[in-house]
Amino acid sequence: MAASESPLIQLRNVTKVYGEGATQFQALKGIDLDIQAGDFVAVMGPSGSGKSTTMNILGCLDVPSAGEFRFKGVHVEQLGRDQRALLRRKYLGFVFQGFNLLARTSALENVELPLVYRGDGKAARRETAMAALEKVGLDRWWDHTPAELSGGQQQRVAIARAIVTNPDVLLADEPTGNLDSERSIEIMELLTDLNKTGNITVLMVTHEPDMAAFARTLVHFKDGLVERIEHKSRTAA
Ligand code: ADP
Repeated sequence: MAASESPLIQLRNVTKVYGEGATQFQALKGIDLDIQAGDFVAVMGPSGSGKSTTMNILGCLDVPSAGEFRFKGVHVEQLGRDQRALLRRKYLGFVFQGFNLLARTSALENVELPLVYRGDGKAARRETAMAALEKVGLDRWWDHTPAELSGGQQQRVAIARAIVTNPDVLLADEPTGNLDSERSIEIMELLTDLNKTGNITVLMVTHEPDMAAFARTLVHFKDGLVERIEHKSRTAA
């Protein structure tokens, strides 16, 4: 990679303190992290090590107590809440362990939701959402509600919803945590495909080494710090 290429995401000496006075707790103690566009990153580490806190900051849902968070060169830590919300809507997609789909609402309508917020018209919404469902292999299931879909299928719908706006970054919080191992591998293969062919940068929290094995970069957290970063060889299939 050319040295001149600046990272998509840069964290510099990021700290996060929760609470005040005697109950104050420092969840992040000075995180430095560069993430290049197109990378597939697995964030690992014991419970309480600061993974979620960091993902919330990267997802523009929370701000550091101190330090810098640059996204595409923009100092996010200096933005207000509304500007961060815009950035989130335009550039980021989110996938959660529990799928977080609206019940009693079809797969297609779930995927359309971010487009409703964006103000797209009905016909354009349908077309874009259907294309996203096709990318995750579920276009034939467009009129099914979450209750009529398996866990793996529900997570595919959630991934379609996350990518329907063409985000630069997909943030996934234990996306296979509720799935059996076969379904988990299918989801990881889908994320790998989106990463490679869709050129989406993937940031994923996982406790499972088998799932982390799909990533190209492993970031290990410990006690509010990045303990170690592993870059895997690009020759691996
Ligand atoms: P992980 O995701 O690695 O399990 P977290 O980032 O969720 O770790 O949490 C790091 C530490 O910060 C934990 O000790 C947790 O209890 C604390 N923490 C997280 N969120 C809050 C909060 N809103 N208020 C107080 N403490 C918090």
